[in-house]
Amino acid sequence: NPIIVWFRESLRLSDHPALYTAAMSGSRVTCSFVYDQESPGIRPLGGATQWWLAQSLRALRAELEALGADLVIRRGPAAKVLGELAREIKAGAVYWNDVAQAGPRAVAADVEAALGDIGVASRVFADDLLVDPAELRGKDGRGPRVFTPFWKRVLALVDPPKPLPTPARLACVTGASSLAIEALGLEPTKPDWAGGLRTTWQAGERAAQQRLTRFLEFAVHGYAGDRDRPDIEATSRLSPHLRFGEISPRQIWHTARFAAEERPACARGIDKFLSELGWREFSRHLLYNNPDLATRNLQPSFDAFPWTKDDAALAAWQRGQTGYPIVDAGMRELWHTGSMHNRVRMVAASLLVKHLLIDWRAGEQWFWDTLVDADPGSNPASWQWVAGSGADAAPYFRVFNPVLQGEKFDANGAYVRRWVPELARLPAGLIHQPWAAKPLELAEAGVALGRSYPSPIVEHKHGRARALAAYASLRTSD
Ligand code: FAD
Repeated sequence: NPIIVWFRESLRLSDHPALYTAAMSGSRVTCSFVYDQESPGIRPLGGATQWWLAQSLRALRAELEALGADLVIRRGPAAKVLGELAREIKAGAVYWNDVAQAGPRAVAADVEAALGDIGVASRVFADDLLVDPAELRGKDGRGPRVFTPFWKRVLALVDPPKPLPTPARLACVTGASSLAIEALGLEPTKPDWAGGLRTTWQAGERAAQQRLTRFLEFAVHGYAGDRDRPDIEATSRLSPHLRFGEISPRQIWHTARFAAEERPACARGIDKFLSELGWREFSRHLLYNNPDLATRNLQPSFDAFPWTKDDAALAAWQRGQTGYPIVDAGMRELWHTGSMHNRVRMVAASLLVKHLLIDWRAGEQWFWDTLVDADPGSNPASWQWVAGSGADAAPYFRVFNPVLQGEKFDANGAYVRRWVPELARLPAGLIHQPWAAKPLELAEAGVALGRSYPSPIVEHKHGRARALAAYASLRTSD
């Protein structure tokens, strides 16, 4: 009987244990994707990740067609949909790669039960992480809370298995009906806000591999020093590809390690790059051990934090109108491209939770909706890190100064000039604090502060003092 390969978050053909094992079994195979936003425990995708998913499915379908196979796309609760498909094609088994998170695992358990009821076998393969999170749980049942010892343990534990090749051929079952990708309604129509995403990104396994190759060839040697600079492309930009499993951490690991052996001068950059991949791993482990990471403070003391509700300030932040150029550049980059440089994410997030005292969950939700790499682990874990409520977090009292951050990491202002064109004619010494310019300097640069570009939404010193006072109130209420 045929085997169904259920594609979940590994939207690729290489290093896909479920697909590879099915293909090597000699059975006929049906590849299937189920768009399931209904099963309990699923966090519905945001707008930008929906857009990415549509592109990723197109790329996957094209790769499968090149092997002579179809991608059967259906929609609905996975247990029901896969049960129906299994009956239709008289499948003997369904194979899939694990997604090591409580929600997706609960869905998989339902699928397994539904298939069991009709006598269809299930087989699950490890994927997605370098180490099974269950392996790193302590005796107290808690998972790792501090990154550095976590990463040391991972480095000592793993030599992840060598990536599997793409099956050379697939003997396929044809004829099962499939939805068109367009029928999933993943892409915007009116208004079509995805123009900037289309010109910035190419989804899919091939594009992911090319990105990794290019990064290792041209950028990794400078990565350790340049990765904080938003004005140049110094990082891999692999995060959305990783999010949808278009490339696996194992593939990145082995390719990067091989590059380090070949080019020892790049070893430092490669170690740093892999440790960033470690932060992804750490965030996913946190999520595994704390399924409500996006809604609950990891440090319960933060439950009493006196957050402010200020819709106007939240909207100004979302639209890149805070009056802090580095933050506004980041928020506009995010809206236009579905991404934002990591350093700027930290500064923008800090402004929201510290200077504006807005609950980190509101920022997390905005990023969830607008990032093409919006990740159920990394997004909430990073927000909690910035807010100070997380595991191994930046202490709350460390308040980023958005002017100094801009001057340090975007020293000549190229990043701000690109995304905040109304400030483009200001000199580097003023571009991160236009309010410090003399009236003549503003006039020469064509800036009308408060009209063509806003004054700061809150003065830094005042915002910082207010944040520290709020934090102190939390401490005294402990
Ligand atoms: P590179 O520097 O090339 O790093 C390689 C890979 O390592 C990345 O692709 C990513 O998978 C991982 N990585 C790097 N930095 C981090 C980090 N700090 N935490 C976790 N993983 C990391 N990353 C996401 O993938 N999804 C998110 O939803 C997300 N939300 C964030 C929210 C905030 C407030 C902050 C401060 C950071 C967030 N990050 C998130 C982490 C980080 O900003 C991105 O992973 C990074 O910018 C992606 O760019 P890159 O692929 O060029 O990274």
